[in-house]
Amino acid sequence: MNEGGESKGFKSGFVSIIGRPNVGKSTLLNSILGEKIAIISDKPQTTRNRILGIKNLPGAQIVFLDTPGIHSARSRFNQAMVKTALATCEEVDLIAFLIEADDPQNDENEMILKTLEKFPKPVFLLINKIDRVPKGEILPIIEAYSQKRSFAQIIPISALLGDGVNIVLEELVRLLPEGPPLFPEDMITDLPERFLAAEMIREKVFQLTRQEIPYATAVVVEEFKEKEDKNLLVIQATILVERESQKRIMIGENGRMLKEIGTRARQEMEAFFGTKVFLELWVKVQKDWREDPRALRWLGFS
Ligand code: GDP
Ligand code: MG
Repeated sequence: MNEGGESKGFKSGFVSIIGRPNVGKSTLLNSILGEKIAIISDKPQTTRNRILGIKNLPGAQIVFLDTPGIHSARSRFNQAMVKTALATCEEVDLIAFLIEADDPQNDENEMILKTLEKFPKPVFLLINKIDRVPKGEILPIIEAYSQKRSFAQIIPISALLGDGVNIVLEELVRLLPEGPPLFPEDMITDLPERFLAAEMIREKVFQLTRQEIPYATAVVVEEFKEKEDKNLLVIQATILVERESQKRIMIGENGRMLKEIGTRARQEMEAFFGTKVFLELWVKVQKDWREDPRALRWLGFS
């Protein structure tokens, strides 16, 4: 970087995307990046770690941190996720706080607003899922939230349809500090490929299984080997569950469920990594991993 030269006037910084579970944080990140790096499902608490996504714009680089949903957490595991979400707010320049247009008022949003008082930095309120409500319902939400605190901006969006997303980017850039790019321009995330592969499997588990099963699941990639001569990626992963009965469901009748998870995950991996993938999946019972500090550390929660 040529100091004071080319980077002059360039803006860069970190923005955390926070909000209750299921408000559309990961959908927004993917929509901004035009690439799916954060997994999505219609179930709360799909995102478990901080997901970093880099958006390059003319004259600016915004580094987004997608986070697990903030909620009143009971288990040790859920508390770790909420802690992850709040910790990112310490590191960032700006905060994007998402709420849902079709459920704007609830205790969890109030709790988040209260928590945000701790961070003396600009907060953008993004009212998401406006495609789900009549236009007339949006102004009252804006008015109600303007009473609660002062926001840098309040912007109605549909992360799913991409509505308002460019306005969000423009407004964020306006408040970013001046500085050189923080990451190389061809980089879209700092997440290791192994992690992304595990997440792709976990997303299929979230999409294909029900009730407590997705929450009892973790995915560990044991092997991630490129065979360049054959243009092939060999991935071996273990799906952890907490009980034998869950293992039976995960495998399914004649192995049908596991096969479906594997097929869908493999197709997504092949598209993402741009190579053929040989994916092998196992299912293993690890009792109470969600309450086991050692297992949590091993899965990346300190
Ligand atoms: P997160 O938990 O906050 O990361 O939420 P996700 O991004 O995983 O999304 C949760 C659910 O809301 C998914 O089923 C999304 O398809 C859906 N969703 C997200 N954004 C929108 C939106 O703008 N409009 C509609 N109708 N659905 C959305
Ligand atoms: Mg998410």
